[in-house]
Amino acid sequence: MALIVQKYGGTSVGDLDRIRNVAGRIAKTYDQGNQVVVILSAMSGVTDTLIKTAEKITEFPDKREMDVLMATGEQTTVALMAITLKSMGYEAQSLLGYQVGILTDSQSCSARILDIGADRLKALLADNSIVIVAGFQGCDAKGDITTLGRGGSDTSAVAVAAAINADACEIYTDVDGVYTADPNICKRAKKLDRICYDEMLEMASLGAKVLQIRSVEFAMKYNVPVHVRSSFNEEEGTMVVNEDANMEKVVVSSVTHNKNEARITLLKVPDEPGIASRILSPISDAGIIVDIIIQNTRSGNMTDLTFTVSKTDYKAAMKISEQTAKEIRAEQVVGDENIAKISVIGVGMRSHSGVAAKMFATLAKENINILLISTSEIRISCIIEEKYTELAVRALHTAFELDKTE
Ligand code: ADP
Ligand code: ASP
Ligand code: MG
Repeated sequence: MALIVQKYGGTSVGDLDRIRNVAGRIAKTYDQGNQVVVILSAMSGVTDTLIKTAEKITEFPDKREMDVLMATGEQTTVALMAITLKSMGYEAQSLLGYQVGILTDSQSCSARILDIGADRLKALLADNSIVIVAGFQGCDAKGDITTLGRGGSDTSAVAVAAAINADACEIYTDVDGVYTADPNICKRAKKLDRICYDEMLEMASLGAKVLQIRSVEFAMKYNVPVHVRSSFNEEEGTMVVNEDANMEKVVVSSVTHNKNEARITLLKVPDEPGIASRILSPISDAGIIVDIIIQNTRSGNMTDLTFTVSKTDYKAAMKISEQTAKEIRAEQVVGDENIAKISVIGVGMRSHSGVAAKMFATLAKENINILLISTSEIRISCIIEEKYTELAVRALHTAFELDKTE
């Protein structure tokens, strides 16, 4: 008997037929003699619709209330799943985040999990019940509902798996596993049998939404082996595991893109100590995460400062930057939402040279202009015009020999 955590994403529970399909899979796992904890997302599209509805009322809806609103998506699916399983004759019970004891900080819409009580969950398992947990949500010390950021059900699953010391954490989604590039835009992408936590962390942070970044951080910290696989077939998926010696032999293991980026530049800023902090502190005070930052010095004691934020934070970041620009007498603020970030990732980069040169040459050959560059030990990212995203992904996938079958 094993203790198995299964997470099903939005597409997998997208309508009643799919909920029935998933219920069948859960029942099968339970019938094989396992204890099963299931984490569910909202039906696909529901979270987006809830956000759009609130934005029809006001451009910046109150974040605490957004948590209350968004959490309803997962509340619906867990109830429907428990109803389905009970109608099939199984002992099943739904639990919302606060009922499980998922304690988070109070950062509305992007809360971090601090602790998971799980006593009630364990008691239900001991009573032979299947437990269906609402993903994406928790509650803070005051008892307020919080949500974990988009894609947060992955994190709920890995965190619950760590808290109850599960034998397996299976993330069921609409693709067969983690691929060398997004299979929906690169037909030649190949499924990886294994990927190490470090590479998966980079992929997740660079836009491969197949796993939310915090779920990978949790998995790495608590050594939870994660199995990413499809809810539509029985194929083995991708195991996310610790790095082994063979993995460094592959220089680049994947190409990732992220269209959810926007660029803001403050032009002709007086070049004096503290100016970067003056510009970026109000942005971080507003809870906005800044990605790439580049400062270019001009002649005449002037400088330009460029940074990128996610598209969702773009309007708020522009508003803050325009206010700061006035205060520090910068000449102008320009913004650009039509950009994308393309990255090549691989632990093999630590021991191989020439990756950046090859990436730049590949993009040049396709006449794609590079707007910004950033690197880490195991990845290189370029900001390009959004319209070239697919072309860039495919060209890099071919250039780094990922099209080949092993
Ligand atoms: P779920 O609703 O199950 O959480 P998501 O839409 O969040 O699913 O994540 C799955 C999607 O991630 C896939 O449909 C795919 O388009 C996208 N994706 C992006 N990059 C990759 C990749 N390298 N491998 C697999 N999927 C990827
Ligand atoms: N429903 C949430 C979202 O769409 C969480 C998730 O699906 O993981 O972001
Ligand atoms: Mg997801």
